[in-house]
Amino acid sequence: MTTQFYKNKINRVLLLLFFLIAACAQKLEPEQSCNFVQNGQLQRVSWKGRVPVTLTISSSVPEEFHESIRLAASEWNYRLGRFMFDVRTGGDVGGSPAKDGQSVIYWINNWESGKELEQARTTIFWKGTFISEADIRINARDFAYSVTDVAEPSRVDFESLLVHELGHVLGLQHVEVGKGSVMEAQLAHGTERRVPGNVDLESLKCEY
Ligand SMILES: [Zn+2]
Repeated sequence: MTTQFYKNKINRVLLLLFFLIAACAQKLEPEQSCNFVQNGQLQRVSWKGRVPVTLTISSSVPEEFHESIRLAASEWNYRLGRFMFDVRTGGDVGGSPAKDGQSVIYWINNWESGKELEQARTTIFWKGTFISEADIRINARDFAYSVTDVAEPSRVDFESLLVHELGHVLGLQHVEVGKGSVMEAQLAHGTERRVPGNVDLESLKCEY
């Protein structure tokens, strides 16, 4: 009787341990990327339900570029049928990018040498599978940007660039050429790529 009692107890403890291990293993199970950045356990990182993402335009960004940023944000909001980006100006945001809990768009005049082919860079910060901050740097040193309705041939279309960077903010990574994605790594001068493609919208369905 006593032995049986302990056996049962041991069995129960073993069973509990098994479930705990199973639960942990499940949590670490790799996920399909869906074109998202993945953490060390190969799980997608995103804002999950914490949208809209509040993005502040730093005072370093000249006024004439603000409208293109808003249009790019609206494009994602509209295509997803969901309020994904809340773009603001002003507020107390630092002049240079830092992990400070605020997602900010910066205009960088002193871009690093050796990186002159990079038009912009988005840095995302995450913990587990949750993105908590995303900062966008615009290379203002090596490129001239177009903000006209029809992109100027000799300049980079600023709205297209921002649509791409906002894709990174949501957690997307680059997509190979030829799939109709706004997440292709290169944006040629004078090219308009302002509308998220079906492949992008499909990817986002995995997380939003
Ligand atoms: Zn990119």
